[in-house]
Amino acid sequence: MKVGVLALQGAFREHIVSLEALGVTALAVRLPEQLDGCDGLVIPGGESTAIGKLMETYGFYEAVARRHEEGMAIWGTCAGAILLARSVLDALPGQRTLGLMDIAVRRNAYGRQSESFEVGLDVSGLSGGPYTGVFIRAPWIESVGEGVEALARHAGRIVAAREGDLMATTFHPELTGDPRIHRLFVEQVVGSPRA
Ligand code: GLN
Repeated sequence: MKVGVLALQGAFREHIVSLEALGVTALAVRLPEQLDGCDGLVIPGGESTAIGKLMETYGFYEAVARRHEEGMAIWGTCAGAILLARSVLDALPGQRTLGLMDIAVRRNAYGRQSESFEVGLDVSGLSGGPYTGVFIRAPWIESVGEGVEALARHAGRIVAAREGDLMATTFHPELTGDPRIHRLFVEQVVGSPRA
């Protein structure tokens, strides 16, 4: 089993380290062809507009959608969650996303006063107590479609969700050293039909 981490911009190295700590083969994905060998893909945090532009330049939009169709599970963290979303509130004009997950996210939702913060979250499906959510100019998930399960909330807003083999977290699990959410995703990848 191999998990790719989209390595165009943002916190991809930390995801690779977190996945390798679980004994998973993790691959820094810089070209769409590399997705062919991946059973799962992490789209990291960073800046969604920058990652999105690079995805366009390299032809990732079509390749990611095709591989998802073929059974590749995808997890987006923060900017990655924005890139997965069907719609984005407070997007940059013309900002493109994959639109694979039936969620609407609000970019930079927490405003200037609390652009970055840490908070303990109860994440459904995780045992062992609260998970420390590291939020960095994070979006929140403003609304979800019928097939989407909310996994965690903070101050009444959804901050983690799952829809089939797609997962979105608006915080940064790769910065905590707590392996539980990476493990949740790896279990999803193992369980996905074609992995
Ligand atoms: N604010 C960023 C964006 O719009 C996301 C921040 C992050 O990924 N930490 O892409």
